[in-house]
Amino acid sequence: MDIAENIKNIKTEISSKVTLVAISKTKPNEDVMAAYETGHRIFGENKVQEMVEKWENLPKDIQWHMVGHVQRNKVKYMVTFVDLIHAVDSLKLLKEIEKQAKKSDRRIQCLLQIKIAEEDTKYGINVDEAEEILQSEAFQKMSHVKIVGLMGMATLTDNEEKIRKEFSFLKDTFDELQKKQPSFTTLSMGMSGDYKIAIECGSNMIRVGSSIFGERNYN
Ligand SMILES: *Cc1c(COP(=O)(O)O)cnc(C)c1O
Repeated sequence: MDIAENIKNIKTEISSKVTLVAISKTKPNEDVMAAYETGHRIFGENKVQEMVEKWENLPKDIQWHMVGHVQRNKVKYMVTFVDLIHAVDSLKLLKEIEKQAKKSDRRIQCLLQIKIAEEDTKYGINVDEAEEILQSEAFQKMSHVKIVGLMGMATLTDNEEKIRKEFSFLKDTFDELQKKQPSFTTLSMGMSGDYKIAIECGSNMIRVGSSIFGERNYN
């Protein structure tokens, strides 16, 4: 796997308006550095513990994104440095981020994860639940979190039409919510297998792992 080559190729392929988050989960620090040396600075992890370890051992100008499901008791370990939390799916989690971010005197950028896949995935909320959070008094009083957009994952399928439908639904939802939320700037959708479709459907942030770093080995 030529990591530097892969990341350069993806960047020439996508518009400069689309942010590439390199998903380095399960991959060693050397692999992150191979991407870093091309000038890339935005990396994502799906486990808090692993992200903390990488943050401790790698250059401090890396912007770390948490793209996985977050347990509330883990928030405190990342609030001092995390750049964007992609998968906020409850007001309870948001309250914990607010509480911990306040201690660090930071304002943390978050995305709400909307469930768009048909398959019965565990995570993500529906549009009504997202609106409920955004309109809640509890959220509106928060000064240490900022919801900057939405994140979603399409069904794992070869059916391109289905993927396109799900991404288009998320883009429509994003546009609708943005009318009332001027802070909405970011639509995180698209992974190795479907980022080209996601961009065609209006994504401006893609999360790409295996197309950069190779297949993951879970042992
Ligand atoms: C692992 C992961 C990705 C990257 O997946 P690839 O298919 O390897 O590109 C993107 N988003 C989330 C939330 C992930 O957990």
